[in-house]
Amino acid sequence: MKTNGMVWFDDMVKQCYAEAQSFKQRGVPIVGIMCEYTPRELILAAGAKPVCLCGGDVKMIPAAEKTLPANLCPLVKSTFGYSVNQANPFLEMASLVVAETTCDGKKKMFERLAERHPMHVLELPQKARDPDALVRWTQELRKLRAVLEARFSVTITDDALRDAIRLMNRERRLRLALAQTLRDDAPPLSGRELLDLKSLFACLPDDLAAYESILSELPSRHTAERPDPANVRVLLTGVPIPHCAERVMDLLEGDRATVVCQENCTGIKPLLEEVDETAADPLAALAEFYYHLPCSVLTPNRDRLDKLERLAAEYRAECIVELVWHACLTYDVESAYTRELAARLGLPYLKIETDYSPSDDARLALRIGALYETVRASR
Ligand code: SF4
Ligand code: SF4
Repeated sequence: MKTNGMVWFDDMVKQCYAEAQSFKQRGVPIVGIMCEYTPRELILAAGAKPVCLCGGDVKMIPAAEKTLPANLCPLVKSTFGYSVNQANPFLEMASLVVAETTCDGKKKMFERLAERHPMHVLELPQKARDPDALVRWTQELRKLRAVLEARFSVTITDDALRDAIRLMNRERRLRLALAQTLRDDAPPLSGRELLDLKSLFACLPDDLAAYESILSELPSRHTAERPDPANVRVLLTGVPIPHCAERVMDLLEGDRATVVCQENCTGIKPLLEEVDETAADPLAALAEFYYHLPCSVLTPNRDRLDKLERLAAEYRAECIVELVWHACLTYDVESAYTRELAARLGLPYLKIETDYSPSDDARLALRIGALYETVRASR
């Protein structure tokens, strides 16, 4: 049985829809985002509400493939398919979409999306640990600030930005604390339950209250309701898992295993650091924070491996599973590094390359079962 706070997130999409309608009625603009690099703080400080538009529904893909090549990542195609089908109410209600130049597939898809939706494209840094790249990225955020001010006829003051930074830090802290409960020998939550504890909108007051309530309820969650402490402890890395695309999580936890750490953008990756709330220039602090996000679109992306190594120890992972959506070249190329890291740490490793379709469920379950047998045999 779920705790009261967990039950709140069972109806997350419905609640977000009710909030969105209320925002529209009150003239509060909704801004769509599709990447963890997009600074929600700036959108909040403009008096708007940032909502995630990443598509996870396989049913949206056929409509997208009428325009886009079939050989694209399912996340890109599903997101676009929602627009073709006019099936994502949040996209339809958005006054602006803030897109980004992450991978090539997304970047080119955004050109088509912009035919139906007002859009601003953020140019993301390409090179990690390059002071010039950080200067350029900071300029991009200043440009976004000006775009939001002009579109919504507001002034984004430094004080408003600091308030938004504090709010987003609070949300990050709460979500990180929830994720960290899975460090326990007897985790109070499964990985899938944790994955469900997030919202399409950032920083809704009811969601923040629900996070707090779950954190207070979890210590007394009955043993019989928790995952079996004898389960294999899995560290999951790779691509994000948007809402509706959770089948790989279910397969991973379907055979006496718990995904104790999700090192991806729908998991712990964007929660590991906080924005400096005391910085003299809050926008520069924001740029610095997002510049540190170890995404595979950066080159090189050594920080991801350093963090993975630290997380494997912190969560006492017994194996590493890497999820790569079909045609995601950047994560696919990086998977060789993860495999090498796993070998160095003495952890069994499995790469799963798939899409949103359940057609390979049986094959994946077999490979996952073989991985877990290796782990159990080595205990
Ligand atoms: S994996 Fe990279 S491109 Fe995808 S949401 Fe995260 S930061 Fe953005
Ligand atoms: S999963 Fe990979 S290919 Fe798909 S949108 Fe993200 S970075 Fe691009």
